Amino acid sequence: MTKDFNSADIAAFRNVWVFCEQRGGELMPTDFELISEGRKLADELGVELCGILLGDDVDGIAKELGGYGADKVYVFNSPLLKNYTTDAYTKVICDAVAEFKPEVFLIGASNIGRDLAPRCAARLHTGLCADCTHLDVALDGYIEFLKSGSSMDLEGVKWDSPLFDVHKNLKMTRPAFGGHLMATIVCPRFRPAMATVRPGVMQKKPFDQAKADALQIIHPEFELAEADLKTKVTEVVKSAKKMADLIGAEYIVAVGGGIASNVEKGIALAEELAAELGGVVGASRPVIDAGWMSADHQIGQTGKTVRPKVYIALGISGAIQHKAGMQDSELIIAVNKNEAAPIFEIADYGICGDLFEVAPQLIAEIKAAKAAK
Ligand code: FAD
Repeated sequence: MTKDFNSADIAAFRNVWVFCEQRGGELMPTDFELISEGRKLADELGVELCGILLGDDVDGIAKELGGYGADKVYVFNSPLLKNYTTDAYTKVICDAVAEFKPEVFLIGASNIGRDLAPRCAARLHTGLCADCTHLDVALDGYIEFLKSGSSMDLEGVKWDSPLFDVHKNLKMTRPAFGGHLMATIVCPRFRPAMATVRPGVMQKKPFDQAKADALQIIHPEFELAEADLKTKVTEVVKSAKKMADLIGAEYIVAVGGGIASNVEKGIALAEELAAELGGVVGASRPVIDAGWMSADHQIGQTGKTVRPKVYIALGISGAIQHKAGMQDSELIIAVNKNEAAPIFEIADYGICGDLFEVAPQLIAEIKAAKAAK
């Protein structure tokens, strides 16, 4: 990184960047979500949206990023970048940031992003807000967001405070105190303002072929030698176990603590219902904590964020930390034997009853509807 890089020289920074993660030469779904969100921020700032893509011979996959709104992608190809290593990726990214000086830098909160982002932020001497669920530059949009989603008294807020608008600060909102309140964080004195965003939180825009064709691919010169890497990836071994594919699923049947009286039967019913719908099974945290299902099934603040077409919650109370991961589902159907369960406050259809009785009826109804076609 250049010695004269100064993260406090705010005026020198321009453009929005998104780290585009690839694994085995394939882009991750989060890349498209962040590019879509980055487009909104770049438009609010009136600047360019740029992807930064590291790998070995990855030019071929860069074009797709244009289709979701990137103006440019900076591509760094090297056999040393084929697989992620903290040292190599941090060096190349920090050198690039020092050279091109983006004002906003978004990174997906995948395992790789969670490792990479704090390392880069520390080296660049700037601020990082982790696990953001909402991002704004424009003050109008931010006020709208507060009005629609908070109980805050907005009357006395001093909107002309430098924190809100000077240098068009990125307003990074994330759950705090166990999800009981939302905190908005700004990074007013250093650049780039860095944020990580969990997979599934931001919405992917429709793909536009004309924009993909117009994408500019840039190959900056860079320096990276074997000696820069303290670790060496000798082999990538994929987990034999298939992970629950919740992100992007259209139908999710999630089970909660309500299956406790007969765990095996509860999970079997959820699996059967999900199979009838062509969907997947998810779970609330107690199900994971009790070891009834593996951690990749967890939905919520410390699990995955999902927005399927239909979310069926079986025996889930609807705690705030669970809702944080599923409340943007298009249609929510809740089955709970307690009519006061908070899940009913956000459900489009609520069934007050025993899941062990209701789920078989739902399965039978779906089967009958299919047979009648
Ligand atoms: P329970 O609280 O046990 O509720 C079970 C529900 O099932 C009840 O509403 C009950 O009425 C109903 N029920 C019981 N039997 C039946 C039956 N036979 N038929 C129908 N209904 C029945 N939770 C998450 O889910 N995801 C997270 O990511 C997450 N992150 C967290 C992070 C932090 C920092 C903290 C503090 C907590 C987090 N939690 C998370 C835990 C969260 O607070 C709740 O404890 C959890 O969501 C409760 O799960 P549940 O509703 O499935 O279980």
